[in-house]
Amino acid sequence: MSRARVIVLNAALGPLDYRVPQGMVVEPGSIVVAPLGPRQLVGAVWEPERLQTEEVGDNRLRNLVHVYDLPPLAAPLRRLIEWTADYYLAPLAAVLRMALPSSGALDGARSITEYRATGHVPERLTPQRAQALERIGERQGLVAELAIIGGVSDGVIRGLVKAGAIEPIEVTIDDPFPVPKPDHGPPALDASQAEAAGALRAAVAAGEFAPYLLDGVTGSGKTEVYFEAIAEAIRADKQALVLLPEIALTEPFLKRFAARFGCDPVPWHSGLRQSQRRRAWRAIATGEARVVVGARSSLFLPYPRLGLIVVDEAHEASFKQEEGVQYHARDVAVMRASFEQVPVILASATPAIESRYMAEIGTYAELKLPDRYGGARLPDMAAIDMLQDPPPRGRWLAPGLVEALEENLTNGEQSLLFLNRRGYAPLTLCRHCGYRFQCPNCTAWMVEHRFTRRLACHHCGHVMPSPKACPECKEEDSLVACGPGVERIADEVHALFPDARTIVVTSDTIWSPAKAAEFVARMEAGEIDIVIGTQLVTKGYHFPNLTLVGVVDADLGLSGGDLRAAERSFQQIRQVSGRAGRGGKHGRVLVQTHDPSARVIQALVSGDAEGFYAAETDARREAGMPPFGRLAAIVVSSEDQAEAIESARMIGRAAPAHDNMAVFGPAPAPLAMLRGRHRYRLLVHAARAVPVQDNIRDWLGALTWPRGVRVAVDVDPYSFL
Ligand SMILES: [Zn+2]
Ligand SMILES: [Zn+2]
Repeated sequence: MSRARVIVLNAALGPLDYRVPQGMVVEPGSIVVAPLGPRQLVGAVWEPERLQTEEVGDNRLRNLVHVYDLPPLAAPLRRLIEWTADYYLAPLAAVLRMALPSSGALDGARSITEYRATGHVPERLTPQRAQALERIGERQGLVAELAIIGGVSDGVIRGLVKAGAIEPIEVTIDDPFPVPKPDHGPPALDASQAEAAGALRAAVAAGEFAPYLLDGVTGSGKTEVYFEAIAEAIRADKQALVLLPEIALTEPFLKRFAARFGCDPVPWHSGLRQSQRRRAWRAIATGEARVVVGARSSLFLPYPRLGLIVVDEAHEASFKQEEGVQYHARDVAVMRASFEQVPVILASATPAIESRYMAEIGTYAELKLPDRYGGARLPDMAAIDMLQDPPPRGRWLAPGLVEALEENLTNGEQSLLFLNRRGYAPLTLCRHCGYRFQCPNCTAWMVEHRFTRRLACHHCGHVMPSPKACPECKEEDSLVACGPGVERIADEVHALFPDARTIVVTSDTIWSPAKAAEFVARMEAGEIDIVIGTQLVTKGYHFPNLTLVGVVDADLGLSGGDLRAAERSFQQIRQVSGRAGRGGKHGRVLVQTHDPSARVIQALVSGDAEGFYAAETDARREAGMPPFGRLAAIVVSSEDQAEAIESARMIGRAAPAHDNMAVFGPAPAPLAMLRGRHRYRLLVHAARAVPVQDNIRDWLGALTWPRGVRVAVDVDPYSFL
């Protein structure tokens, strides 16, 4: 008789053994359906010798139900899934789930029914129906997807279908994707680009694990260089994966890709409709999708012929997943490349200290692009001392910056104001009684959004209409906004330059690749004078007529105070500065700060990146912080505060004593309450050589806590909230 060991998609369960019925053929990696109680679950067959499970007699085994007609998950991907689960202390099933799509895509259906608005307004137009139709607009998707977009229940959408306001539409999902042509639009590379491209092409041709750090100043043409490596992968009939930190960046990427290769790559991100997702997954799994550009989740997809991985903007903290399996896509990308025996390119204008260190010790090969492409110069940078040159009361833009904006308007050139804060104001309070609007679920202020006339919590998404009166003292029109968000800066710009054409660019306004495309088109057509944006505009875009960048509050990122605060500020301001003067015209950058003598500001203004990094790296080395030491955070949370603190203390008391490993806490997390759960943190700090994960596994594995308590381990944490 034949047995199979299977990881089923249920994070609470370990591997299970099944009988393989007569006539069914499975091998490690086969995607199967297995019975579990009365239910059936998708799973993957695994090598039995690699997974421990309770021995079950042959006579007690149940039959596997089905094996899908799909290529089995290849061995390198299986090793990656094991490694990720082991390193990040996550259940194997939770990692496996990231490699598999919803069951629909496994079936290989040729078409799928989606829904879209007909334009017909139903006779009975309830507020819910009106809201749903307005939000859905021209979008299309499954009933459940439209319900989420519309913020209503499935029932409301079904009612709209019955009323003729939404109609079903058959979508074919096995249309082939076009194959990118490696010689469609060959680039003109300068000497340093050509040299880097040559090295990368050779690495792809060699087909071995080789990590590269592609370190080039903003505007130096890193994309053009790694495109040559992609071209080589296409020529060799291999697949290439490009990871981008956010989907808003997909749009400018697609344009450049299409110009170089004659068609779009296959996108993979959370904004895809179900039909697009199914089509993409199948094309990836069968090898038909040649180049995939995606968010971090595309890293676990089952590419059968992977030849290259590129991580663009590799320094970005958004590659770190903060929920579920808390992995860092940059680090997992390097591991996948190693299992697959392919090169991996980390591209950045401001590489993370961790990556720079790997290059320094020779683990990564470093390719440098020191100059801007086409002879464009880096912009001039200057600090504006907000104490010396303060804005008028109630305003946020200093006279020096206002003057520069005015000059740019006169010259018909575009400007960008950067402030990494969505909404109108970060805090709203009552001037009569001092009441402050706090989120009922989180330790966070409600942020005013004037566009939508709402207060919103940026941590849990809780929203409420902006009230007329103070909920505490009932005084009307007593609420005042404190501090600026981008919407408030936009107001100030309107007041200063009533004729200037402006746009606010945040995740509230640019929430899809289509919106990003619209923004790019308007910028290129010269329909916008001043952009006011969050970190969403700091990278990826190339607007030749944008010559002025104003950083509204350079001190903002430093207030967090975690070990990467200064580094992150430096990267962000460098990146946004890189938007200025990318064409023939010279660019300049004005940085508003209350502390012009701070090391970050000094380094930015003088352009001394090397000095800044050296000092930051020394400080980390001295403190034994990453990459010279290791951190892991343990967050204990519960809706019941007493239960949370008791469990956290119990875990703290049981902390093991190991050489070169210290456990701090528990302490209330800076976000002491999040989504209605009280949170306490412990921080593990260890020397590099300490097997931190094994220690934590043994430590927590011996403990139990009440059902309502959640204990989340974050290995190599980036968020300290
Ligand atoms: Zn009040
Ligand atoms: Zn909240």
